[in-house]
Amino acid sequence: MEKEKGTETTIKEKVKALAASMTLEEKIGMIHGCQLFQTAGVSRLGVPPLVFSDGTMGVRQDFYPDSWEAVGGNGDYVTYLPCIAALAATWNRELARKAGSVLGEEARGRGKDVILSPGMNLKRSPLCGRNFEYFSEDPFLTGQMAAPYIQGIQEWDVAACPKHFAANNQETERLWVDVDVEEDVLREMYLPAFREALKEGGAYMVMGAYNKLYGEHCCQSDFLLNQVLRKEWGYDGVVVSDWGAVHDTEKAALSQLDIEMSVTSDFDQYFLAEPLKQAVEEGRIPEAVIDEKVEHILLLMERLHMLEGKRKTGAYNTPEHRQTALEAARESVVLLKNQAGVLPLNAESLRRVLVIGENADLRHGNGGGSAEVKALYEVTPLAGIRALLGGNVQVDYVKGYAGGETKAASELNWQATSLENGGGSTGMTDEAEDGTGADGADAVLREEALAAAENPSYDQVIFIGGLSHKQDSEGNDRPDMKLPFGQDRLIAELLKRRQDMVVVLTGGSPVEMEEWVDAAQSLVWGWYGGMEGGTALAEVLFGRVNPSGKLTESFYRRHTDCSAHVLGEFPGKETVRYGEGRLVGYRYLDAFNKEPRFCFGHGLSYSSFAYGPLKVVRLEDGWQVSCPVKNVSERRGMETVQLYLAPLTPKAGWPVQELRGFVKLDLEPGQEKEAVMLLRASDVPGPAEIRVGSSSRDIRSRAVMGAE
Ligand code: BGC
Repeated sequence: MEKEKGTETTIKEKVKALAASMTLEEKIGMIHGCQLFQTAGVSRLGVPPLVFSDGTMGVRQDFYPDSWEAVGGNGDYVTYLPCIAALAATWNRELARKAGSVLGEEARGRGKDVILSPGMNLKRSPLCGRNFEYFSEDPFLTGQMAAPYIQGIQEWDVAACPKHFAANNQETERLWVDVDVEEDVLREMYLPAFREALKEGGAYMVMGAYNKLYGEHCCQSDFLLNQVLRKEWGYDGVVVSDWGAVHDTEKAALSQLDIEMSVTSDFDQYFLAEPLKQAVEEGRIPEAVIDEKVEHILLLMERLHMLEGKRKTGAYNTPEHRQTALEAARESVVLLKNQAGVLPLNAESLRRVLVIGENADLRHGNGGGSAEVKALYEVTPLAGIRALLGGNVQVDYVKGYAGGETKAASELNWQATSLENGGGSTGMTDEAEDGTGADGADAVLREEALAAAENPSYDQVIFIGGLSHKQDSEGNDRPDMKLPFGQDRLIAELLKRRQDMVVVLTGGSPVEMEEWVDAAQSLVWGWYGGMEGGTALAEVLFGRVNPSGKLTESFYRRHTDCSAHVLGEFPGKETVRYGEGRLVGYRYLDAFNKEPRFCFGHGLSYSSFAYGPLKVVRLEDGWQVSCPVKNVSERRGMETVQLYLAPLTPKAGWPVQELRGFVKLDLEPGQEKEAVMLLRASDVPGPAEIRVGSSSRDIRSRAVMGAE
């Protein structure tokens, strides 16, 4: 430890000396984009440029230095990983680390230095268009999954860049909206996951957000950057702006923002370019301020072995990476409902299967905004089902509705204009392509699907619908949680004909299901599951994989049941008031005794698990809680055991229980293991009940603890 500290000090001295030997112009070159995804190096001193890449589901394709036109060619196809929301639903820290490691290795393999991932804003409302890029409505879970993911990325001498710091919880007016949240709430709900990502995860970089907080843009906020990040947290990594999030030279320079990036090609005119140089020359800003930024960047380069030492080389599109994408997709699928033993389906007893729904055969990788991925391939659910069932089963497909392919962000040249119209709005990208009525439904396709479902020669009907990146997208919030393109009516009418129809929904955020959910016997939730998402889904449907995903956000009946919409505002106007305070997601539903459609932490298995009594042992810095969990079924299965802390006397307006621990167990039939979870003393404010269970509303074991 002492030795490590010593090395850190030597490195810091070294980068100080290096920065001191640079001219003002050279230093300015390092702190703003000289290309859309690159800053300048100082070749005379052996300092390379810094190369960035999106994104959160795979390393993004290459663009020309000064235009949002993709370079094209075959060199930048990559592994497409499940989206962050899917990864979170695995509740598997080791898998998060592995997925991060794939991303890091591929970024390095593509010659990138920084990967702009993970997205980790809190899901305050289910309508936020970027929720598919975020982990959860719960700060603890977000931090716990983000930290190993970041470590996985950085194993490869590539910097992770958690984003968007902070309180960036909507797309509507994202450039200008001013977040009005109580400081205590900010500190308890919106900051802790970032702290975990930087402290435990050790992220070398963090991205500031577009929005304002307390009247200041986040990328030039003295409070957020100088006070919280640098002073309180002691952060010595690099702070980069979101692309086009800086608005004032002096404020940004003095707030310890290190690098300004943007979407336009007038690089010399960026706030931290010529205008800053001039300000220094005229004595309005001390040069020492610039030195500090350059030192942060050089320190990051040292950490990545960019200045000396042997740097890892990385690789992309390896079979191992595809395997990890598959494993993550498998564990992300959430079995929401399974009555009458409909699932798993028995492949051996089937001869003719009918698949209905556009998401069965739609590819999603290239959508969503900056998260878009040029996937090496993408197995759709239909392809996955066909591949699994093989030649003895005839699989027919009808669409039932049509929303159309999502156009790639790069194809739309979307980012070039991404600073217009406040940076985002509500309900913009919904429209279906052709032949549709007022609800977006295509009557011809619907009738065709209904007629096919009536054909008795089909042993099984499977519906696969949901959302696409037409709804789940950067720059766009949904107006409500409704399924688009007339799917509600279609599903309801199909279920009248086929009660045992398996309903599968894929998407990045929850949808209303009230019109038909009671009639459905089985319901499976898939996400944007990456290149092997369709394989994983088929394996779950046919029992090759036992589902183990759990919800990391409340699935409300409708969005008006969400606290941001009841007690607060969403999306607000110039300001948005977080009137719900701490009561985000399940914290609100539990405190007010409201029923969600599916609760936080919910997810079924084909196995059943029995929980035994809790054992609580006092440790020096907290408690160890253990609970025996037994697989009481005939199948191997995985269970995520969750620990909630419930204060014995909760204050008014405070959560009645909060997630404070979880562990995922892999259990053979009949096997019992101890679920061991550590409760940090700092997470236990007073006397409380410890609740351990299978979801936030399926508590199986309890113990009361004092807060000695
Ligand atoms: C997004 C960031 C992204 C950046 C670069 C912005 O529009 O908000 O998440 O990393 O663009 O593409």
